Amino acid sequence: MLKINNLTAHYSAAQALFGIDLSVAAGETVALVGANGAGKSTLLKCLMGLHKPAGGTIFLDGKNITKTTPAGMVRLGVALSPEGREVFSHLSVLENLQLGAIPLKLAKAEQIRRMTAVFSRFPKLQERKDQLAGTLSGGEQQMLAMGRALIAQPRLLLLDEPSLGLAPRIMDEIFAIIRQLARGGTTILLVEQNAARALSASDKAYLLANGRIVEHGKSDQLLNDPALRSAFLGAASDENPAASRLGAAGLTNIRLEKPDMHTRDFMPAFQNEEELKSHQLKGLKWTVRHAYEGSAHYREKFEAADVSPDAIQSLDDLRKLPFTTADDLRTGYPFPLRAVPFEQIVRVHASSGTTGKRKVLSYTQKDLDDWISFFARCYQMAGVTPLDRVQIAVGYGVWTAGMGFQLGCEKIGALAVPIGPGNIDMQIQFLLDFQSTVFCSTASMALLMAEEIHQRGIADKINVKKIIYGSERSSRSMRQKISDLFGGAELFDITGLTELYGPGTGIECSDHDCIHYWADYYLLEILDPDTLKPVPDGEWGEMVVTSLCKEGAPLIRYRTRDITRLIPGPCSCGSILPRHSRIRGRSDDTIKFRGVNIYPSSIDTILSAVPGLGSEYQIHLKRDSAERDHMNLLVERAEGVDGGRAPELIHEVSHQIKKQLLVSVKTELVDYGTLPRSEKKIQRVFDNRIQDEIV
Ligand code: ZN
Repeated sequence: MLKINNLTAHYSAAQALFGIDLSVAAGETVALVGANGAGKSTLLKCLMGLHKPAGGTIFLDGKNITKTTPAGMVRLGVALSPEGREVFSHLSVLENLQLGAIPLKLAKAEQIRRMTAVFSRFPKLQERKDQLAGTLSGGEQQMLAMGRALIAQPRLLLLDEPSLGLAPRIMDEIFAIIRQLARGGTTILLVEQNAARALSASDKAYLLANGRIVEHGKSDQLLNDPALRSAFLGAASDENPAASRLGAAGLTNIRLEKPDMHTRDFMPAFQNEEELKSHQLKGLKWTVRHAYEGSAHYREKFEAADVSPDAIQSLDDLRKLPFTTADDLRTGYPFPLRAVPFEQIVRVHASSGTTGKRKVLSYTQKDLDDWISFFARCYQMAGVTPLDRVQIAVGYGVWTAGMGFQLGCEKIGALAVPIGPGNIDMQIQFLLDFQSTVFCSTASMALLMAEEIHQRGIADKINVKKIIYGSERSSRSMRQKISDLFGGAELFDITGLTELYGPGTGIECSDHDCIHYWADYYLLEILDPDTLKPVPDGEWGEMVVTSLCKEGAPLIRYRTRDITRLIPGPCSCGSILPRHSRIRGRSDDTIKFRGVNIYPSSIDTILSAVPGLGSEYQIHLKRDSAERDHMNLLVERAEGVDGGRAPELIHEVSHQIKKQLLVSVKTELVDYGTLPRSEKKIQRVFDNRIQDEIV
């Protein structure tokens, strides 16, 4: 929308801007960060036609507008909320707002309509509409300056130092309004000295020092990249104010709320595949010896398989080792696979298993430290920064989920809101009151919340930018729906299992195409679940994991039953961590139907591709008196889709399933919202074929 090329400006003999290049795309919030005197205000003045640039061009929607007058800029849809508010202190709030409307030459009715819209955004201004502007507090004056700019219903809103001189609580309020404007589609150029605030409230940022852009990029990357943080935001460290380039430029008034955030980096130390492989081999040798020497259970299994720790000389020797299964964990209850003395165990966790005994896992302090560190890596990969507010709606208790999300969050230095699952009213209230930026839950819970947010019509009042969800399969249409109803939040699928520390053993990256897994902590094999032989790279199979440094309860070739595939080659996100596909299902929940093996996820995929269907469905399997199996599919229409389209949609679903899975189904369409939602995993497969087990 806005493009500035090579802009220079002078104040008499002194040059204030040196060849500024900057762009703002429609819908973006772009921050321009710099200290006093860096040239920020000069840039805004050139933009608004208040100061004549010495050189360079300014384009708005491709049109050269370099010499447009201030009133002309307002008519083009650009409005400025100036530094120091510049409200007219002897005029009332209402009169100040009316002044904002003058250059627009609006009809009376339109002017009243816009005034009402501003008052509904700033209820405080309405309360004080007859009060003189000079008697307002600093925060209220800032609201008035913003309101006056908004009367123009600008396509591009320029905010000059909105946080200047405000108390932190008022600053929160102002930034919450800025975020609401951004979510409502207003394009914003935010000029700020407060780097941390500006970066956390924007998509993209430019750092300005002494009239020059010294750095620019995506805001969360600038906040998250340790090198950039120390180079440009390092001035926040009181011990070392000159450490950064901005610091060296004398820009010491840039402050981050959390001084040591620039030292946080949880990405692995290895640089290439050779280094990773040598690290893995070392870890494998250590793990096998540790398990053999520390655990009678493992020693017996190794001896039965006729393999000793010395047999492990290469990563391929992994195949000589026997498998570990959930049964090994259950038979060893209550402390299975324990390979260290009790004195070294600092915590146990247990799975929420419903059949048989629970799986209990023992942790040493190092195990916990490792887990927390790679969980922090998950947050880092999802672009969560120390300035985020993370609402954790997964279960807290003896199982690993809540603890992992909580401790990883604290490790990265973000603010944690530990709620646990359920409590929808409190969840919503905290999303609104705390302006949580990250929401962590299961996919089902995220869907439940998304629909609640939609029903209450508050998508533009919350501030969730990222949703980290796990422990459950999710279809493409379900992801899309959650994202849309959350006001465009970005979804990150996180993986993990209690047996292997807990959640956080891998996460989707910003490319949203794959899960990166932590190959420096465990080895991943993909095997054919029937033959237990490796499948070729890229083919689906069962995930089998071997821990590389787990002390309390090491895992050796543990069959997870999760179905996924390796994705060969490097990821376009730039991470060198290897990756696999999203978990497609479990090898033990495959539906066997008329001789065909069907993963429930393949039904997801087919339904997601049919426009007009909702994200929810159920599969019912029945057996008739002639011992023939039947599959009935219950699918919700998408919201707002006319019931008259049922025959056409039913035909399409049955046709696609027949074509892609080679089976016949009977499809039934139900209204949107009919099928049950749950905060726990949603049950979608109902197999009623085996009757004789019911006594
Ligand atoms: Zn990636």
